Amino acid sequence: MAASRKDYYSILGVSRDASKEDIKKAYRKLVREWHPDAYKGDDKKDAEDKFKEIQEAYHVLSDPEKRAMFDKFGYVGEPSERVRYGRTSGSSGGFFDESFGDFQDIFDVFFGGSRSRTRESRGQQAVKGEDIHASVTVDLKDVISGKTIYLEYGRSSTCNACGGNGSENGTSFRSCPNCGGSGYVREEHRSFFGVFANTRVCSTCEGGGRIVETRCSKCSGSGALKEKHRVKVNVPPGVEDGSTLRITGHGNAGKSGGPGGDMYVMVRVKVPDHYKRRGTDLYYIAEIDYIEAVLGTTVEVPLPEGGLENLTIPQGTNPGTVFRMKNLGIPSISNSRRGDLNVTVKVNITKPSSKERKILHEIAKIRKAKVME
Ligand SMILES: [Zn+2]
Ligand SMILES: [Zn+2]
Repeated sequence: MAASRKDYYSILGVSRDASKEDIKKAYRKLVREWHPDAYKGDDKKDAEDKFKEIQEAYHVLSDPEKRAMFDKFGYVGEPSERVRYGRTSGSSGGFFDESFGDFQDIFDVFFGGSRSRTRESRGQQAVKGEDIHASVTVDLKDVISGKTIYLEYGRSSTCNACGGNGSENGTSFRSCPNCGGSGYVREEHRSFFGVFANTRVCSTCEGGGRIVETRCSKCSGSGALKEKHRVKVNVPPGVEDGSTLRITGHGNAGKSGGPGGDMYVMVRVKVPDHYKRRGTDLYYIAEIDYIEAVLGTTVEVPLPEGGLENLTIPQGTNPGTVFRMKNLGIPSISNSRRGDLNVTVKVNITKPSSKERKILHEIAKIRKAKVME
């Protein structure tokens, strides 16, 4: 659709001196009649075009600056297909795109106006806020039970004095001098084939058509404030070392009504030196004396959640034997079933004293072992 020369007043069926309220009333009535979801007639395509026309008319006449421009020049120098709004979501039946009309008013009509308008800086592209990265360190015992951590950090939030648009009281704007308020500038290129003109988004106002006159005194015009933010982080049982949790929307504030960034928390797991972790299984080495291996013993094995568990080493246990202590490993992150705690027996052999040697020689005779004298 090119920059049009339609009479927006007759499209909405209002007089040229109609008040803001009259325009809104007329618009709502027409939307109820022509909205593609509501239209009862046969020619859906015509209804859609008509609906777009109504949107376009209301878009211009509901904006004092655009209305004044229309009154003065008979058109608004803004190709309507390039009207940009910050909203990126909020559609009904897949029909609405970002090109037409004031979504808020459509929501008002169809959903009883329950949504509140949150931003004034129409025109500028909504930008998602930046993500923030942090890391937390947990103990192995926290991995067994899971842990709740409260993380405190600084982030930018939308300035409440100006609503994020950077102008004093959120209202101190003037028409952009670079584009005359249209949000678009025309560029001409000369070439061998002739003169080519194209329109691009005005870089001074970023398409908004207006610039801040007096900067917001609270945020100095940035639209954002630093705030101390606290977030609850649920570290799930079974978490792997180095895994990252995403906490949606707890990053820095978005721009021009865009959503907040996300908070990414990397979890480091401190595993005690006496364990090796492999998935949900833990490995532990129990050192025993050779006579304990021969005659049997009981060892105390530390548990990942804390405390000790007795493990019986039977008589005649060979070095390197692995005992599996079932369900005393790490919980699975998906089904919380615990893996095993595997205990490998290490046998310490020492040089015997003279007293021990005498007794061992007796045993050697019984076992017909070939030993040194
Ligand atoms: Zn501009
Ligand atoms: Zn501010």
